[in-house]
Amino acid sequence: MAREVNAVWNVCNQHQLEVFRREGRLLSGFDFAPFVRGASAEFELIGSSTIDEIRDQYAVKRRAAGKVRLRWRRSGGRRRSLGWVPFKRRATRWTGDAVRFAGIDFGVWDSYSLGGYDFRAGAFVEDARGRWYFCLQVEVEVCSGHAGAAVGVDLGLKAVAVTSDADRLEHGRWYRQAQEAVGRAARARKRGRVRALHAKVRNQRRDALHKWTRSTVDRCSEIVVGDVCPSAVGKTRLAKSVYDTGWTLLRTMLRYKSEHAGIRCVVVPERDSTRTCSCCGSVPASSPRGRAGLRIREWTCSECGARHDRDVNAARNILVAGHRHPAEGIPAL
Ligand SMILES: [Zn+2]
Repeated sequence: MAREVNAVWNVCNQHQLEVFRREGRLLSGFDFAPFVRGASAEFELIGSSTIDEIRDQYAVKRRAAGKVRLRWRRSGGRRRSLGWVPFKRRATRWTGDAVRFAGIDFGVWDSYSLGGYDFRAGAFVEDARGRWYFCLQVEVEVCSGHAGAAVGVDLGLKAVAVTSDADRLEHGRWYRQAQEAVGRAARARKRGRVRALHAKVRNQRRDALHKWTRSTVDRCSEIVVGDVCPSAVGKTRLAKSVYDTGWTLLRTMLRYKSEHAGIRCVVVPERDSTRTCSCCGSVPASSPRGRAGLRIREWTCSECGARHDRDVNAARNILVAGHRHPAEGIPAL
């Protein structure tokens, strides 16, 4: 099935490329409809529901990428695309603890009671270790918010995240711990083992980020996050620990969990948040600055005498920035 999916995807890619060369036009999923109508007769395994979802997903992804065409999907060779078989809802049916698709019952360990949700589409997705997952986009009600603290969140290297009320998500050093084992497996040319170790690191990081963002969203009524950008820091010597922290993933999780909980989550520019004193608002000479300042974990304001934890102080400034310039913040979408 995944092979046939790749073929349909590549046909959409080719079609889009030709239409663009001929007419300079970019296609929506709807535009593809007449082009792929009846195509299911040409494939043995996939049906019209899968073909319809491929063309819709192709159009969405092409637009998000802002390119005329996307990468071709490969069915074989070393750079084979990981398996992906999408479908529309009409192609599936719940039968107790299994989902029926293409005449086959797939047993699902339904820990989320998915049978009770409405869904539009879904996909069978393969990971790098060749395991297949059943993924659904479900419709959920947005909650109406809850009482709690308003916090600023400073994203950093020493701790992944620190809030203005001094709650910390410590750095797991997930990759560094696995690095030696990865090197050994790579030298022994055990590619499967390397993939498994990378996947393990990814899972550990995601798990830690999920737990921390969940507890933060649950206890807060408003969250302000700094806009620190991994690609800017990634060019420096700090790169390895930056990629290890997952700032982007953390912000994404805070956003969608806040949106679901009905609380406010904004991203503000974090410029000067480290150097400014959150007590008196000045930028004192004693505050940490530059690369050398990275080592300074605690400091005293030379203007007002306040004693600061570096990260908590930054998080407080970020919270203030979120209140001062609500228009500048990017609201959660
Ligand atoms: Zn001060």
